[in-house]
Amino acid sequence: MACKTDKLIATVKAKVEPTPELIELLKRYRDGLNMAIRWAVEAARAKGRPPTLSKIYRAVYEQLRTMGLPSYIASACYREALAIVRSYLASGARGRMPVVNTLHMWLHKNAYRVRDGYLYVTGGYKARVVGIEEKYKEGEWKEAKLVYRGGDMYLYIAVEVPKPMLVKPKGVIAVDINERYVYYGNSQWVKKVETPVEKAMRLRELAEKLQRRYSAPRYTPWNRRGGIRERIRRLHKKARDIVEDWAKKTAKRIVEEARERQYAVAVEDLTGLKEAIRELTKEHRVGLMLLAYRRLLWWMKWQAAKRGVVVVEVEPRGTSTTCPKCGGKMEEVGHRRVKCVKCGFEAGRDIVAIYNIEKRAREKLGNPSFSPLAVLTPS
Ligand SMILES: [Zn+2]
Repeated sequence: MACKTDKLIATVKAKVEPTPELIELLKRYRDGLNMAIRWAVEAARAKGRPPTLSKIYRAVYEQLRTMGLPSYIASACYREALAIVRSYLASGARGRMPVVNTLHMWLHKNAYRVRDGYLYVTGGYKARVVGIEEKYKEGEWKEAKLVYRGGDMYLYIAVEVPKPMLVKPKGVIAVDINERYVYYGNSQWVKKVETPVEKAMRLRELAEKLQRRYSAPRYTPWNRRGGIRERIRRLHKKARDIVEDWAKKTAKRIVEEARERQYAVAVEDLTGLKEAIRELTKEHRVGLMLLAYRRLLWWMKWQAAKRGVVVVEVEPRGTSTTCPKCGGKMEEVGHRRVKCVKCGFEAGRDIVAIYNIEKRAREKLGNPSFSPLAVLTPS
């Protein structure tokens, strides 16, 4: 598992002072991107499969150059177009042809330099760097993405850093999520953190209320003006941002604790969620909870890789319905409380899940002798 040559891709963010020339270049990139997307979608429709990289190169590269894109940037442009079209086709090519409205640009590692407080972009562009994150100084700079949004310009630099050696785990922190809380811990201690699902739900409900109110025919001119649509879009984005911030923060907290104790982090693989959410009826809550869990898992894996913490994914089936003491069947005896029909062990459903996830993780880590019997005190 541990391997010295493993690399980790991190991101360093820099704030750049926008220049009219760079904004122009970004607009040309966007136009070139949309042109290349249209070509690739039509080519795919004609042939029944997406074009190859060399085909799209032959078809659009010269035109991108004529549009004023330096060669490295023209290459990045048709490559991005192909990636967008491939994922559009892979998702069944439903809906309208993809159109890119954002101003951004991929920069190959040879297409830019940051030196002496300036960003240099191939083709003779130069802009002042007003701030850059002070991290991963030992890393190797790879490609970057230049983004212009709301009057601000940022450069996101992908930095390759060596992955730390994995720490041999002495124990396990199991993680379990339900609609309201994330539980983490093991048979000796369990902590819980509230999820952002309710908060995000309220924003989504507000967005939908606006949507319903202004979708009436008499409001169409308003709607068309975009003001309301923009507000609705912003509410949805805020809901997603809340989930993302929470996932990032919570993942860090859990993995830091695991690192301090030299523990592994154990989670159910994603299929477990289907079981966990079966009882939930409201569509939106389910969607938000899935999002929260997916993002939490993503950030935990990222944090773990960064800190050399082992992550174990366990089989999710029956983690809250199997007795961690005797393997018997647990039956519901109250709100989120379960009791073993065989040995009478009773606990909260989430606590039972934590015990079982810990047990399964320990078995996977080659510690089959572990038994929660030794430490469990029936409550
Ligand atoms: Zn039992």
